[in-house]
Amino acid sequence: MNPSTSWTTTDIIATVQRYWGYGELRPLQEQAIRAGLDQHDSLVVLPTGGGKSLCYQVPAELAQRTDIVVSPLIALMKDQVDGLRECGYPAAALYSGMAPEDTRKIEADIIAGRYRLVFAAPERLLTPRFLHLIERLPVRSFAIDEAHCISHWGHDFRPEYRQLAELKTRFPRASIHAYTATATERVRADIVEQLRLQDPTVLVGTFDRPNLAYRIIPRVNAAIQVLEVLRRHPKQAAIVYCLSRKESESLAHALQTQGIRAAFYHAGMEAEDRRRTQDAFAAERIDVVVATVAFGMGIDRSDVRCVIHASMPKSVEHYQQETGRAGRDGLPAECVLLYSAADFLRWESLMEKSAAEANAVEDIMAAARELLGHIRRLCTGVHCRHRQLSEYFGQAYEQPNCEACDVCLQEVEGLADATVTAQKILSCVARTGSRFGVEYIVDVLLGARTERVRNWGHDKLSTYGLLKGTNRKSLTNMLYQLLDDGLLDRTTDEHPVLRLNDASWAVLRGQRQVQLRTPKEEVQATRFDKESWEGVDRGLFESLREVRHQIATERNVPPFVIFSDDTLRDMTRVRPGSPASLLNVRGVGDRKLADLGARFLEHIATYCRDHNLSLDAVSGSRPRLPSSGARNETKETAFTLFAKGTSVEQVAATTGRALSTTWGYLDEFIALHRPARVESWVDTQTYDKVAAAIQEVGATYLKPIFEHLEGKVPYEQIRVVVRHLEAARNEP
Ligand code: ADP
Ligand code: ZN
Repeated sequence: MNPSTSWTTTDIIATVQRYWGYGELRPLQEQAIRAGLDQHDSLVVLPTGGGKSLCYQVPAELAQRTDIVVSPLIALMKDQVDGLRECGYPAAALYSGMAPEDTRKIEADIIAGRYRLVFAAPERLLTPRFLHLIERLPVRSFAIDEAHCISHWGHDFRPEYRQLAELKTRFPRASIHAYTATATERVRADIVEQLRLQDPTVLVGTFDRPNLAYRIIPRVNAAIQVLEVLRRHPKQAAIVYCLSRKESESLAHALQTQGIRAAFYHAGMEAEDRRRTQDAFAAERIDVVVATVAFGMGIDRSDVRCVIHASMPKSVEHYQQETGRAGRDGLPAECVLLYSAADFLRWESLMEKSAAEANAVEDIMAAARELLGHIRRLCTGVHCRHRQLSEYFGQAYEQPNCEACDVCLQEVEGLADATVTAQKILSCVARTGSRFGVEYIVDVLLGARTERVRNWGHDKLSTYGLLKGTNRKSLTNMLYQLLDDGLLDRTTDEHPVLRLNDASWAVLRGQRQVQLRTPKEEVQATRFDKESWEGVDRGLFESLREVRHQIATERNVPPFVIFSDDTLRDMTRVRPGSPASLLNVRGVGDRKLADLGARFLEHIATYCRDHNLSLDAVSGSRPRLPSSGARNETKETAFTLFAKGTSVEQVAATTGRALSTTWGYLDEFIALHRPARVESWVDTQTYDKVAAAIQEVGATYLKPIFEHLEGKVPYEQIRVVVRHLEAARNEP
């Protein structure tokens, strides 16, 4: 018997709609959710932004269990828990550094079965205290997020993940569900083996991210080029990746002087400073973070519109993961990589050095070199970027034109005939006797007056100053391009020198043309970019972002946990004039409607009146549930019972829904049906106390009321009173 058959697709979608406000599932989500419901081990590989979290959030809620989620970073856990709570989903995180009384409180709630998900760091999971806790529940299912961290073949190996191999032995009855965004065949096999997954359901999604526009362009001047790209995304979230700490600091400063709200982030900073930057970015106090690779895993902002690599990362896996942080909300985003062959050489020497220091095993080194070769080919090739990335991850790419990369948008046709320049460069190498490196050759070509040039007598050469007046950086870049294209060689010893090869001679003899890539000045908006703005009133959109920002600040949560940009854009298209129509907007679930609906509706109404816009412009882009929707039936039953004054416990028992869900229904019931009395759910005395507290501290937020009442009245009851008073005020 297949147990998950007791839940229909409609049940699954009803849950997704109730908490997150989405009316459809993304590819493979249903299969992954079913594996969770069936408690059948699984490995789910979906690209960043593919919607992995939903896959472990839904089964725990539907089956009313408490599942454990293992996640590598505390910051990430906190954001997730915040986000879930805003949706009314009961989740908690346990991590080191929490106040003991908070820990105890959460542990007690866990044992009482109040949470559907408990997030924990891997090193915490196998402590005696935690083991004891989850044995008492008992836990039936574990979700392992970022599961590739268990494999040293992956690009982000974390030794603490290794302990997870013990889970199967300790909890033989519990199922394990591994989630990752990047996994090659080898890493995938390693995850299955390490976690001892039994006959796992393996689900591998499509890696392509059609909403990302990729551009890989030659680096001439990083600061200027980065600024140019960022100007295309004013006041939007962006991440710039650098190789070194120093670079990240100086680039951040350079951007600040240009009026961009930027900060740097790297592993050399105090943890406290790092956290501050991260929080500022999450809270939208800064727009741009200039970072080394250390940044990114801890952020969950889904509206990152731009990811720039100021130099080449060390593997395609890294590139995919870092660019994957762009556009997780599904809206168009841009990824620009500034490439120079110097990056390749720099990585090579870094790897050599660290191998020597760490006495690294030869095959790990070989693997690293292999990865580096792949990313270099991606950078130097002139093929559709979407196709190359897909194929790298072993997936065919069918589209002839992706319409979202520099190659397909024909932006790299800045290939200029550079045969003459190349001949000048190559002959300079020949004349100086193939004994010098890149910098020196550039010096000679530019006619630099350095002592070294004079000592060698190279200021007397015919090639001295032959390219005088050329920008040093672009000339250096041209040399590297010649190296990349195999038209020039470079020795690999400690002091590498340039050497001519057969291809160089062919160029010098005029038998071979040379084309050099020059970055194109103009880039165009992609079709996706244009479409994503269709029907969107930009003024309304920006003002909704402000409302969101305000609410987030008041609640001390990052704005993206309130609503995503995608939801705000949809709101400006729909311009809802009623709660029902707001519920039609993608990303508005029941709890958020009850919690935030009034504020957004009011803002939209005012804005539309002031700007002469009609309300309810379109009927919302969210597909409605099938008409036999279980959610509607259940809710209607609940409403009927509430109308008779039935208690929440009784309604929950009758409808088979969780208590938290049922309180949510009641909230909606009061807002929509405005019952005259609510004493079935809050006794008169409590009602009066809450009403008095509201007089004191206002009703915008529940927390101050809760605190004013010294925590003696539960949130659910406070909400009933707030809603009831509100409904009475809104009485026509
Ligand atoms: P991942 O963990 O795979 O990177 P997330 O789980 O963070 O991705 O999901 C990325 C974004 O997509 C989130 O904003 C999430 O709410 C949204 N999302 C997930 N599933 C759906 C869906 N079925 N419909 C619409 N949006 C979804
Ligand atoms: Zn393309």
